[in-house]
Amino acid sequence: MLLATDLDGTFLAGPAEDRLRLYQLINSHPAIKLAYVTGRGLESVLSLLSDPTLPQPDYVICDVGATVVQVIDATTLQPLQPLQAQIDARWPGEQAVTTALQDIPGLERQDVPQERRCSYYCSFDAISPELASVIGELGCELLYSAERYLDILPTGVNKGSTLLALIEQLGIDEDDVLVAGDTLNDLAMYEHGFKGVCVGESEEGLLAATHGRARVLHAERPGCGGIVEAIEHFGFLGERGMQLHRTPAMAPGKAELLIVYHRTPYEEVIEKGEVKRRRPASPNGIIPTLVSFFNDGRPGSWVAWAVHDPRVNKNFENYTSFDGDRHPNLTVSRVPLSKSEVDIFYKSFSKEAFWPLLHTFWERARFREDHWEVFLKVNRKFAERVAVDAAEGATVWLHDYNLWMVPAALRELRPDLKIAFFHHTYFPSADVFNVVPWRRAIIGSLLQCDYIGFHIPRQVENFVDVVRGTVPMRVLEEQSAAPRFLTYGCATGLDRYASCIEAGHRVVRLGAHPVGLDTQRVQTLLQREDVRQRMAQLRSDLSGTRVLLSVERLDYTKGTLERLLAFERMLDAHPELIGKITLITICVPAAREMTIYKQLQNQIEQAVGRINGRFSRVGWIPLQFFFRAIPFEELVAYYAMADVMWITPLRDGLNLVSKEFVAVQGMTGGRGVLVLSEFAGAAAELKGAVLTNPHDPQDLASACYLALNMSRAEARTRMRQLFDIVSHFDNKRWGDDFLDAVHAPLPEIPQEQEAS
Ligand code: UDP
Repeated sequence: MLLATDLDGTFLAGPAEDRLRLYQLINSHPAIKLAYVTGRGLESVLSLLSDPTLPQPDYVICDVGATVVQVIDATTLQPLQPLQAQIDARWPGEQAVTTALQDIPGLERQDVPQERRCSYYCSFDAISPELASVIGELGCELLYSAERYLDILPTGVNKGSTLLALIEQLGIDEDDVLVAGDTLNDLAMYEHGFKGVCVGESEEGLLAATHGRARVLHAERPGCGGIVEAIEHFGFLGERGMQLHRTPAMAPGKAELLIVYHRTPYEEVIEKGEVKRRRPASPNGIIPTLVSFFNDGRPGSWVAWAVHDPRVNKNFENYTSFDGDRHPNLTVSRVPLSKSEVDIFYKSFSKEAFWPLLHTFWERARFREDHWEVFLKVNRKFAERVAVDAAEGATVWLHDYNLWMVPAALRELRPDLKIAFFHHTYFPSADVFNVVPWRRAIIGSLLQCDYIGFHIPRQVENFVDVVRGTVPMRVLEEQSAAPRFLTYGCATGLDRYASCIEAGHRVVRLGAHPVGLDTQRVQTLLQREDVRQRMAQLRSDLSGTRVLLSVERLDYTKGTLERLLAFERMLDAHPELIGKITLITICVPAAREMTIYKQLQNQIEQAVGRINGRFSRVGWIPLQFFFRAIPFEELVAYYAMADVMWITPLRDGLNLVSKEFVAVQGMTGGRGVLVLSEFAGAAAELKGAVLTNPHDPQDLASACYLALNMSRAEARTRMRQLFDIVSHFDNKRWGDDFLDAVHAPLPEIPQEQEAS
């Protein structure tokens, strides 16, 4: 059958369960062809194609019949020829129409997308003989509906005529067609003898005009429910066809809170041939924070992937426990992935395509359709597992961009769930994000969430910027960034941001939640005897020199090379520093298979060699560069020793190192100075840091010089201010604030202005 349906008031309307039933019915019968027949312009139909809950149409007739396209896939639409050409030939062109009508009183142009037709608002009185005659001379005709919408269309073009021509061109039997609508605007579809349905709550005029027609059903249920009634009434699918073939409604699981994270909360080690699970060796990171949400004993599930090689391990454990004494009701739910899936989904694709793009290094991004397919498949597996584990109405907390496509699949499987997402990496504006070939699908998926959190307001607004260019959107609630965040004071600052939007028929709340530090753990470490000894040792090793410190992973986003060059510039400009300062850089190398970092490593090594070659003296070298990871318990000793912490990412989602430095200095009574790139998310939060622009070599050098020469009193004041922020907004507060925000009631939603 072909279902030719109007959108607003019809295919997009009705209670959620009716919509789901119709959409699932269509998806489960590939033989059903679907045509949207709408007064919207093509661009506003495009936005629907990114909604993963809607079935994909095969054809779109829009602009009240003036545009007809075939949908190849969500991003490829082709004009259906020769039909479209025949319509085009009858259209005099937008400028001819608007010019001819410019002096006619009472017409106001509609500000919505439109092609091959011109749409106005006007009252009935404005439809004068003069207007009719001008339109006639243009070779057009007018269509007036809902007592306010006037469409000027090519003569003979309306929803019904184009639908008829489409059906004839496709050779579809007219008995296999069902038309559906709800306003007089749809009347033309019913004029060619097709079976039809006026859904419940249709406009009186349409009901009167179709009254008594044997082939038109006046359904009871509004929207999708009315269409389902008609499919049944006319027997299009037979009794069996009405049974859904799709996955039956899933029985809910037990977990009330689900954390979906790419890693398991434990590390697996092999001891005496046995696999042992233990807490992660590194005390930092957010895993312990997230696990702590299960301390209250609530039934929970931690969903993560695990490599499954059936040749090695025949009995893959889908479910394991972790720290059962502390979290008796927490299950670690493992999604089995093959080694190649992990390599593509996690290692190569994410790092090659999304990581550079998200950090605004879009020229470095490499997109591969076959990798995207694996990404989709893996995300689907995650969604299916969550759907099995989650209790009715449970809260699902998804983490980071590796799981972008989970909400799309999950919303369909479990419409009852509260889906929350936290974005750990930077989120760029539309200028950059829109480079992604699959941007519509990604945004369509994220809009299935109830709540999306980012670190800082700028990232929230960048997301809103992308959404606005993808689907019709309005801001329902805004928030001021101050006083919690910087406004005009840094590159990532912003004064206001949207905290609730309506987009793609969904209300989604947004928030800024910079990840906090587990300050308690830092405190515990600082009291440990071995850590104290390490600090004393470092103090004596570094006596006589002032210490600049940088700590980061090897990554082009971190601005390591730029900083080394600035250091060289500073020594050139201030020879009095020679012999008196040392820049210690701890740079964690990338995994060996990450060949993309090789060139950067070579450049860094060359710069280090050159600078040390140029400036070293007997008994003193300016740069100490450690290309290795240092355990956190040792790192804190370095943080305590640093006079200046110099952190210069060209772009960073947040930057935890800066907070760790502040915590250690604050707890040890230090008066080190934090010099922080204004392109790190943390810059918008850490008031008291000396901000620097890493894209400006001169500024990089001068900010560092300023920090080295800062008075003790100012350094102390700044550190107090910083420590106040870091110790107050710790990891616990971050998580609690996030979950509270997820469960907060929706703001009052203002009535939308009537659209055409
Ligand atoms: N880190 C570490 N040892 C090192 C270098 C870094 O344990 O030798 C840790 C550091 O303490 C911090 C994390 O790695 O917690 C880096 O986090 P950040 O947010 O600064 O940067 P990311 O690597 O996430 O981009």
